[in-house]
Amino acid sequence: MSRRRQIYEGKAKILYEGPEPGTLIQYFKDDATAFNAQKKGTISGKGVLNNRISEHVFTLLGGLGIPTHFIRRLNMREQLIRQVEIVPIEVVVRNVAAGSLSKRLGIEEGQQLPRTIIEYYYKDDALGDPMIADEHIACFGWASQEEMNDIADMAVRVNDFLCGLFAGIGIRLVDFKLEFGRLWENDYSRIILADEISPDGCRLWDMTTNEKLDKDRFRRDLGGEAEAYQEVARRLGLLPEGEANSVLDLEEHRQKRGK
Ligand code: 5GP
Repeated sequence: MSRRRQIYEGKAKILYEGPEPGTLIQYFKDDATAFNAQKKGTISGKGVLNNRISEHVFTLLGGLGIPTHFIRRLNMREQLIRQVEIVPIEVVVRNVAAGSLSKRLGIEEGQQLPRTIIEYYYKDDALGDPMIADEHIACFGWASQEEMNDIADMAVRVNDFLCGLFAGIGIRLVDFKLEFGRLWENDYSRIILADEISPDGCRLWDMTTNEKLDKDRFRRDLGGEAEAYQEVARRLGLLPEGEANSVLDLEEHRQKRGK
């Protein structure tokens, strides 16, 4: 790992220089943070599961014609991605009231929203990712109107697809966060889907029991977070049956063997 040049380290991922110009390697950590990193911990095996889940979802979205940064998975914790200029906006899509929406507006968690809501947050840890409106994005030039149209269109398409994908495995897609980037080709750029789609940035509730199968287990001290991520991966068909409780992680394996 140390051979490679580290480009960026985030809360849950590290980006390394890729093998070819215009590529990066995205490494998924087990580290978990919440409430703007005020709460810190690890979820054993999370990085392996998120790498696999995000690969699966991005591959399916790519198949639908949604452009993404994903190129291919390299190993248990890494994937090769296209280098993009990240648009400094977190796009949150909501189907059911929960989290900050419920808190801010006093709407009971679990209430189906009459229509899907798309919200924007300015990506700035020091400011705690404040919610913003289109007006702020235009005013401060964080993205052009054309880019925002593409982002909103893609967010709706991703939501439609993911709602169906998760409904098919008995999971309600309550809300999720997306990030987008600019892919530069000469003097022109186009918007593509970046970052990851995993239980770290989605609220996923079991359709029959309403059990939370996402990072809220960690945020709200519910316990069983590793099992919840495994359950999502298992239902997506990404864990061989019988191995649901043992995420094969070579690194962990080596550590246990003391090598
Ligand atoms: P809320 O605004 O209710 O806290 O979050 C809405 C949705 O976006 C949730 O599914 C949450 O996981 C996701 N989300 C919002 N901000 C972040 C963030 O900074 N990191 C991650 N991993 N997810 C986020």
